[in-house]
Amino acid sequence: MKLTPHASSATPDKGALSPVAYDLLVIGAGPAGLAAARDAAAAGARVALIESHHIGGNCLHEGCIPSKTILRSAQLLADMRNALNYGVDLPDVGNADFAAVMERMRRVRDRILRVDSAARLDGEGIALHLGHARFVSADAVDVAGTRLRFRKALVATGSRPLLPDIEGLEAAGYLTNESVFELTRLPPSLLVIGGGPLGCELAQGFARLGSRTLICHSEPLFLPGEERDAAQMVSHALARDGVEIHLNCNIVAVRLEGGRKHITMVIDGNPSTTVVDEVLTGIGRLPAVQGLDLEKAGVAYDAGAGIQVDDFLRTTNPRIFAAGDVCLEEAYTNTAEASARIVVRNALFRGRQRMSALTVPWCTYTDPQVAHVGLYVRQARAQGIPVKTYTVPMHDVVRAITDGDEEGFVKVHVRDGTDRILGATIVGRCAGELINNISLAMVAGMGLRRLAGVIHAYPTQGEAVRQAAQACVRSLDAGEKRTHKNTA
Ligand SMILES: Cc1cc2nc3c(=O)[nH]c(=O)nc-3n(C[C@H](O)[C@H](O)[C@H](O)COP(=O)(O)OP(=O)(O)OC[C@H]3O[C@@H](n4cnc5c(N)ncnc54)[C@H](O)[C@@H]3O)c2cc1C
Repeated sequence: MKLTPHASSATPDKGALSPVAYDLLVIGAGPAGLAAARDAAAAGARVALIESHHIGGNCLHEGCIPSKTILRSAQLLADMRNALNYGVDLPDVGNADFAAVMERMRRVRDRILRVDSAARLDGEGIALHLGHARFVSADAVDVAGTRLRFRKALVATGSRPLLPDIEGLEAAGYLTNESVFELTRLPPSLLVIGGGPLGCELAQGFARLGSRTLICHSEPLFLPGEERDAAQMVSHALARDGVEIHLNCNIVAVRLEGGRKHITMVIDGNPSTTVVDEVLTGIGRLPAVQGLDLEKAGVAYDAGAGIQVDDFLRTTNPRIFAAGDVCLEEAYTNTAEASARIVVRNALFRGRQRMSALTVPWCTYTDPQVAHVGLYVRQARAQGIPVKTYTVPMHDVVRAITDGDEEGFVKVHVRDGTDRILGATIVGRCAGELINNISLAMVAGMGLRRLAGVIHAYPTQGEAVRQAAQACVRSLDAGEKRTHKNTA
């Protein structure tokens, strides 16, 4: 495709039909939209980026960044309370200064926002338009009274919280990820509804900061989808931090009385009640497809599953692509960015890159963290792949012992009889960092035999991965010796 040179100024074409169609028009300035706009502009494309709320999207304002910043404060406090176990006497640790924790979070957010400022985007040749975008046809969008035409478009409008249908909840009031980071006062007590990554992370964080915290999850284990032993460790960790855990639990009614929320829940069929100051819901996300007039552009979508895309991220309109939470089951920032980059190649450069070819790790940032990449055992078996798993408990890893981080494990799944990595789950204090080693090996097509030969800095927790690789090599070598003996 021949790209027209990009505009030198981001001044919106107010009140008029834009004279030249943009090579790429991007709706949504979250991680997906920003990554696509930047890559396309750097390649010389004429790019427009439309944002209705704030640049940075859910990740920066109401997701990854505020949550991880607060979790850091909570972890520090937990470590300080545990200091005596390390021979450090810190009397009267007390609770957090919640206002100061939130102030730090806002400073961190502002600092990161500078990277994505409107001025910076302008400098990169991206025409930023603020307002809610709506399709008016198969090749044009209206935003704040301006009609913009495009050769190719990317819908990267992300997701919004899925709200539970609970009697009285609306009237009693509740928090979601869109409001919890605006709190100025630590709730004395908090009920978290939902035991996915968001619920588990924030339940542990608020408990550590000093709230009496309850978590209610409708299934028998937290983190649906993760391996059972990993989810079990998260359960133990939350309990250790004083979170009241309710599994197989459904909240059926909420009633406001005397400024507090009276909760009726049913656990394993048995009703019970409790009273809390705040309720935080985190039961899932819905793709943000409303108000886009996708019908006018011929883009098929489903209110629950989002925009329909093929493996090349094309929608049912060949000019329009989608990326990130609005179309993908795996709703993570790294997935949003990676999918957006695929769109730039496929939409502007006739690429044929497939979403299914990506290797995407993810992590739940509880303490210990739970990280995963590739296939789970059940998925490999469903595909008829024979699996062998090599497990190294963190209590066998020298650096984990010196750090007092013995909770957790590294589990690597390979195709049985080979060193080919299928997937891995890591539970540990820095599981999110460790999983990157395995992702790297998988992307590079490196088997466990080569990984076993990679000398790691000593002592590091990353050695757990090498130890798992060595276990695989020993097992393969022993198998070869047996075969040799039997055939000799
Ligand atoms: C509490 C929480 C913690 C999280 N932590 C992590 C984590 O640790 N790691 C991780 O990888 N992921 C995490 N996530 C998920 C991550 O935030 C999302 O996957 C990521 O933000 C998706 O990026 P996106 O670009 O697809 O969408 P979004 O970030 O949602 O951005 C979409 C943008 O589009 C804009 N928009 C919507 N409609 C329109 C319209 N019609 N016109 C113009 N603009 C529009 C929105 O205002 C928004 O700015 C977390 C999420 C939550 C809620």
